[in-house]
Amino acid sequence: MSGSDRDLKRVFVKTYGCQMNVYDSERMTDALAPAGYVAVDNAEAADLILLNTCHIREKAAEKVYSELGRLRRLKSEAAESGRTVLVGVAGCVAQAEGAEIVRRAPVVDLVVGPQSYQRLPGILAEVAGGKRVVETDFAVEEKFAVLDRIATSRGEDGRRPDRESQSRGEDGRRPDRESKKRLSAFLTVQEGCDKFCTFCVVPYTRGAEVSRPVKAILAEAERLAAAGVREVTLLGQNVNAWHGEGPDGRAWGLGRLLARLAEIPGLDRLRYITSHPRDMDGELIAAHRDLASLMPYLHLPVQSGSDRVLAAMNRRHTRADYLRLIERIRAARPDIALSGDFIVGFPGESEADFEDTLSIVEDVGYASAFSFKYSPRPGTPAATAADQIEESKKADRLARLQAVIDACQKTFNHSTVGSTAEILFERRGRHAGQIVGRSPWLLPVQVEAPETLIGSIGRVVIESVSSNSLFGRLAGREAMPDRLLAEASA
Ligand code: SAM
Ligand code: SF4
Repeated sequence: MSGSDRDLKRVFVKTYGCQMNVYDSERMTDALAPAGYVAVDNAEAADLILLNTCHIREKAAEKVYSELGRLRRLKSEAAESGRTVLVGVAGCVAQAEGAEIVRRAPVVDLVVGPQSYQRLPGILAEVAGGKRVVETDFAVEEKFAVLDRIATSRGEDGRRPDRESQSRGEDGRRPDRESKKRLSAFLTVQEGCDKFCTFCVVPYTRGAEVSRPVKAILAEAERLAAAGVREVTLLGQNVNAWHGEGPDGRAWGLGRLLARLAEIPGLDRLRYITSHPRDMDGELIAAHRDLASLMPYLHLPVQSGSDRVLAAMNRRHTRADYLRLIERIRAARPDIALSGDFIVGFPGESEADFEDTLSIVEDVGYASAFSFKYSPRPGTPAATAADQIEESKKADRLARLQAVIDACQKTFNHSTVGSTAEILFERRGRHAGQIVGRSPWLLPVQVEAPETLIGSIGRVVIESVSSNSLFGRLAGREAMPDRLLAEASA
């Protein structure tokens, strides 16, 4: 083993929750690189284990404590063989529970909130001095500035050669590096939220809404494109609330930012997630009409179809407002795939309110949607409402809602059969001779095609569907644009 290998320390980051946590986990390993850490993909091999946690629902938070139980055994086994393993809790549980975590779980050496990852090397130095550290300041602007500096000074090429692995989100999506070349990447443009929906912890765990400056976003997007990334998904808890000052000195919204990103050579596909209906302005809707690289997919949660529940949730729009918005979006981009989030069993939700939710799913005709049982979150107004709904009713409503969502999803998937779509081929399929790509509507598409096509965008005729995949065949080389033909034969 060389001296430098001996000095190398290994960090394993386990990611829970949303794509923003996937992105943050990468930033954590970036921040730790100057302190001599490389990322590994299993806890057993690590000197430092960080759990990047989610606090959005009770179940998500509880998972963290059961994982800490497992890590306690791992840490003491390592100690018996003379090895020191440090354990840290990061993310939204860290922010929400802070010092309570070190009290409840003696295995934990450090607790670091989502806006303090740039401080990790300093925190680890304190831990090495024998302290248990809890760092939960809201320093989001400092975080953006410091992490940008680290990425720029390392001349980040989008592949981070010093990584041994990277983490996946709970949805199992690993957007980057499924293939050797990184094709698809997340890029955070906005963090936090000022909307204070009465069920939601985000304004408390992620803090006030902050937009990242245009210059930093463009620099990161250009670095990604130069490294061969073809699809970028802009991230934010309220991504369409993003705003900033453009290089022209004018106030820019997300629509204008997307238009500028669309000019970057090589960035063939743009997406953004998650949006709030109130921030969906005319410019952003027009971007769906005007930008060929803006994919026809929009995640626009409504949460409930009942005006009474929407008001109690403090969503500050009505069912009719939402449906009018959907009409405008569809007028701009008729083939758009719409996705949403729903909560059932919000305090006081009556059977009639719930039926309004079932009917809005059908009225919109979602291509996909996520649905959750309401989970009371400590510190949020709805958690202490008197009229909580019993668990069995929540479970029954969730099952009924999911049946309606599944039916809509099937209808959407079947509507794509016979169409020809541009697919970004990402990786080998499960069976020999098969490769898998992403459709513009985000669904995976399985195609019998040579592996040499991985990394390129090809035209595919959709022939059949299963519950969560499409199957297709190459539309034929004559259907491919010149650039793609060149890539296919390269
Ligand atoms: N900003 C997005 C919006 O306004 O729709 C949502 C972001 S939130 C991180 C993701 C989803 O988690 C929400 O859309 C909501 O459906 C769900 N969620 C949030 N708090 C919840 C709670 N207390 N119980 C159940 N689901 C919840
Ligand atoms: Fe949470 Fe979204 Fe509401 Fe903000 S807008 S409080 S992130 S659900």
